[in-house]
Amino acid sequence: MKYVPKQPRGGINVSDTHPLVEAGTLIAGLGAIFAVIAVVLVFLVEIALYFVPPEKEAALFRDWLPDDLVTVAPDDDRLTGTQRLVDRLAFHWADSPYEFRVEIDDSSVSNAMAFPGGLIVVTRGLLDQVESENELAFVLGHELGHYRNRDHLRALGRGIVLSLFFTATTGADVSNLGITVADLALRSFSRKQETAADEFGLELVYTQYGHVDEAWRLFERWDDGDDSLTDILTYLSTHPQPGDRIEELEALADRRAWPRQGEVAQLPW
Ligand SMILES: [Zn+2]
Repeated sequence: MKYVPKQPRGGINVSDTHPLVEAGTLIAGLGAIFAVIAVVLVFLVEIALYFVPPEKEAALFRDWLPDDLVTVAPDDDRLTGTQRLVDRLAFHWADSPYEFRVEIDDSSVSNAMAFPGGLIVVTRGLLDQVESENELAFVLGHELGHYRNRDHLRALGRGIVLSLFFTATTGADVSNLGITVADLALRSFSRKQETAADEFGLELVYTQYGHVDEAWRLFERWDDGDDSLTDILTYLSTHPQPGDRIEELEALADRRAWPRQGEVAQLPW
């Protein structure tokens, strides 16, 4: 019998599927892969944070300061006054694993930032803007809220959080992590994280004073546009817009039946 080789059918290298459908499948597939990678990265940060409990974080960063921080004199009235106010507010957070330290960044822009280990940095510019202790208390309470939800570590970015995990597990020096005021001043939180921090902060203010009068007066002034915009821009770039925030805070106070009127405390300096 003679062997007759069969010819392959025509167009064997051409897919039966329409090219557009193939392109769609490819894009959907790549999209799914990137989505999975993104979810894994988010989980990696959560896992890293699980292995760096607040107590460990506090111990690692006990005496640490950001490289580019320009501090004021240690006996500055504003520094001691702000530290005392943080201590009074944090007293109401009974199981706080942090011992909060305050430093003033000698800069004219307005900002308040939560650094690892319980270091709260407020700028001289922000202290120039607050007009009562109650206003400052809410700004500080809001930062304490970020610690409670550990947003402050997530805001550092995945790279630093993962490096922090290796630092914590190998006992390396945290000063190599390269966390700076300039860098953190630009990192913003999600709206959800901001709202949660506001709720915790306002609750601390209510517990401290028995009312929430003037707690968000600073934002009302900013919303009215009294102040020079460049000075408040940094704070606003990393926090919700004052108008929306005021509405949310008013609604929160009403929901929790926190008195909106009360005796307002003067700044301690
Ligand atoms: Zn915030």
